[in-house]
Amino acid sequence: MSVLPDPSSDPLLGLYKQPDLRLVSGCGCEVVDSGGKVYLDFTSGIGVNALGHASPVFRAAVLRALESGLVHTSNLYRTAPGEELARLLLSLSFPGKVFFCNSGAEAGEAAFKFARRWGRSKGGDAKVGFTSFEGAFHGRLFGTLAATARVEYRTPFEPLMPGMRFARVGDPGSVRAVSSREGTAAVVIETIQGEGGVRPVPAGFLRELRAFCDEEEILLVIDEVQCGFGRSGHFFAFEHAGVVPDLLVLAKPIAGGLPMGAVVVAPHVAAELRPGDHGTTFGGGPFLSTVALAVVRHLSDPEFLDRVRALGAHLETRLRDLQRRVPGVREIRGMGLMRGIELEVPVAAVTDAARARGLLVVGAGPDTIRLLPPLVVTEEEIDRAVEILGASIRFAMGIDPVDAGVVQRS
Ligand SMILES: *Cc1c(COP(=O)(O)O)cnc(C)c1O
Repeated sequence: MSVLPDPSSDPLLGLYKQPDLRLVSGCGCEVVDSGGKVYLDFTSGIGVNALGHASPVFRAAVLRALESGLVHTSNLYRTAPGEELARLLLSLSFPGKVFFCNSGAEAGEAAFKFARRWGRSKGGDAKVGFTSFEGAFHGRLFGTLAATARVEYRTPFEPLMPGMRFARVGDPGSVRAVSSREGTAAVVIETIQGEGGVRPVPAGFLRELRAFCDEEEILLVIDEVQCGFGRSGHFFAFEHAGVVPDLLVLAKPIAGGLPMGAVVVAPHVAAELRPGDHGTTFGGGPFLSTVALAVVRHLSDPEFLDRVRALGAHLETRLRDLQRRVPGVREIRGMGLMRGIELEVPVAAVTDAARARGLLVVGAGPDTIRLLPPLVVTEEEIDRAVEILGASIRFAMGIDPVDAGVVQRS
């Protein structure tokens, strides 16, 4: 393998820790690097490629989306695909209105602006604060970064958006301590914390949050950028708690790998927004919306979701078995095809060992391996991935000092 470029001659800004490989093609749950080595992809581009690589559904949608010749019109004019996609998202979530943008962080920023507009109108200039949670990740822009708990992401870029307070998941007292009817516009939460270690929020706590927000006239903003669109085994993960948010933040898999974000806005919040309050050049264009329509229709098919639930149960069984067989596994967390494995060894050692054995996985914090396979994964691929993971953890723990049994297919 070639060595990584000397940082001084690398044309790319050095923001990412990347291994020395270049991916050149993919199909289903597999990707191939420039040396011809095949990997099982259990990252899905961080939860984006729900339909896997080279999906025929995606391909057909892209070809159809090119037919009109209109890729982009800006929001100066209306186009039909965006309206149709908005109707579909509302039918799958709750009645209201939809705003389209281009990423998860942008969707979060928009939701915060919408919440502030509502708060100020309901409670005056003081009702503009937010409550987020320890372990939360909502993006890397100034507002969403303010709602993100990781100190090393935040500190170099302060001052961030003011008005953010943090509570603890599962601790209603901590929410009450930092939130008030007079000073808080919204409470913001991921139904399953992703970057923060794959931690599902208990359904009871989500219901308590909903009740608290209703009681104190505070909005509930749910961020399902990572856990939404079927990944949890429910179309939206909040469905398992039976709550409905006031603002729903969406992105990652919505357009099959093309950049798109969306916010679903409940009617009482939508009623406070006026032309000019927010906007975007690209958001909700006809090309992206046509593709997203096909992707979302596919992901929301009840039979597709049944299959995700069955695969999620299979993955959980395999991981419990792994925990029994392999030392160093502290905890298995997650839902559906979004799983975290908390380890006693640093995740980097395991992701490196897994990659050498032909499996791509990503960390979630310093000690948790995150599994986000495409939702079209097969049982056989799950078995293969868990097998490789077991060998990789043993290797990283120093149990199998000889790097034997490396899976190499090409
Ligand atoms: C990835 C992620 C975001 C940010 O999305 P970007 O498209 O990277 O800006 C926000 N919230 C959650 C829960 C995420 O997982």
